[in-house]
Amino acid sequence: KVDVRGVHKAFGTLTVLDGVDLQVRPGEVTVVLGPSGSGKSTLLRLINHLDRADRGFISVGGELMGYRRAGGKLHELREREILKQRTKIGFVFQNFNLFAHLTALENIVEAPVSAQRRSRSEATRHARELLAQVGLEDKADTYPRQLSGGQQQRVAIARALAVRPEVLLFDEPTSALDPELVGEVLDVIKKLAHDGTTMIVVTHEIGFAREVADTVMFMDAGRVVEQGAPARILDSPTHPRTKAFLEKVL
Ligand code: ATP
Ligand code: MG
Repeated sequence: KVDVRGVHKAFGTLTVLDGVDLQVRPGEVTVVLGPSGSGKSTLLRLINHLDRADRGFISVGGELMGYRRAGGKLHELREREILKQRTKIGFVFQNFNLFAHLTALENIVEAPVSAQRRSRSEATRHARELLAQVGLEDKADTYPRQLSGGQQQRVAIARALAVRPEVLLFDEPTSALDPELVGEVLDVIKKLAHDGTTMIVVTHEIGFAREVADTVMFMDAGRVVEQGAPARILDSPTHPRTKAFLEKVL
């Protein structure tokens, strides 16, 4: 379960998140919509503790991200402990972010071995299963530059799954792809949703949101403007900002 409560974040005088609450139950998919600059990526980065909230708290699977409670106080975790904690979360970026000098298989094996201390042979076996799951069993020894954008993103999804995370976060996973490659990546994400993977997906793919989301959340200017079942938010939004946004993207 992901639990975000009262999170605030400012960069200098710019308030980027202004009291955000979000709960995602195990096996559920939340799709986050909102205009550019509304704070969607910042929210995902905070959940992953790639950056720190100014106020509020974020927990994943019952563990506070970035902190440890001791003697009634909160202590910030050290970098190494944060890296280990981050394996509760899989993160898939817009631009794939694969390690260019590693093959598809090596990209997937890296985190389980280095951050989770799993054996290389077990991690390799698991990585091959994951490659098969995203339809790329024949690409194990291929380098990222030899793969299409859609294939790279499917490797990135396999890599995110390799740590057996409690939740997967996607930040506009298809927006850097040529249109004809979007479908193959969305299909992989749909299949994961069907298998009960807990996910938060930032995307402008409204059809995908309608089909896959349990909850759609619309953000504007650092606030959650409305959230609810996809049919309610997408077909009869109550807030004028949501209406205006949907008219633009549909
Ligand atoms: P997009 O749809 O364009 O990806 P977004 O909803 O993901 O937008 P964010 O990337 O979260 O928006 O950015 C929210 C605001 O915070 C923007 O105004 C951005 O310029 C600002 N911002 C984000 N990161 C930083 C930073 N490290 N330093 C200063 N400002 C930042
Ligand atoms: Mg963004």
